[in-house]
Amino acid sequence: MYRYLPDFITKSVFEMDLQILIDMGVKGIAVDIDNTLVPMNIRTPGHEAIEWIEKVKSMGFKVCILSNARKHRAKIFMDKLGIHGIGFANKPGRKGYDKAAAYMELDNKECAILGDQLFTDIKGGVKSGFVTVLTEYLDGNEILYVKFKRLFEKRLIKKYEGGIKKI
Ligand SMILES: [Mg+2]
Repeated sequence: MYRYLPDFITKSVFEMDLQILIDMGVKGIAVDIDNTLVPMNIRTPGHEAIEWIEKVKSMGFKVCILSNARKHRAKIFMDKLGIHGIGFANKPGRKGYDKAAAYMELDNKECAILGDQLFTDIKGGVKSGFVTVLTEYLDGNEILYVKFKRLFEKRLIKKYEGGIKKI
C-alpha cells in the first residue's frame, strides 16, 4: 500500500467543509499557493482567495502559507493575504512543515496541510504528522515535469480513493 495518502480529498479549498477539521482538533492550516489558492502563474491572490482566508480566520484557525514557489512570489501572497508563511519550502521535506507549525505556535498534529500535489504537499504532510487534505488542482497549465507526476498521482488516487473521505 502506498504510504503517503491524504486523510481527505476535496474539490477545492473554497468548497471544503472546514468544520470537519475543527472537530478533529485541527487549529492551524498551512496552505499551498499554486493550483490550490490560485491557478498556476497567477501573480496575486484573487478575491476568492482573500475571502477564503478571512473565512478561515473567522472560524478560529491560524493560517499560513507553505509553498515551494520562489520566496518573492510567496511573499506577495503573504502580504496581500495578511498572513505569514514559508516560501521556497522544499516540500515534501519536513523542515517547512515544522516551521509552519512553529509559526502558528501549534503542535504538528494540530495542523493541516491543504495542497494539490500528492508527492509534495501530502507526502510532506504525512511525514510531518499533519492532517492532510488533497485538493483538485485549479488549472491544467503546468510544466511538463508536473504533468508527468500527475499521471502517477492520478493512478494512485484512483486506486485508493474509495478509502479516502471526501470533504
Ligand atoms: Mg501546488
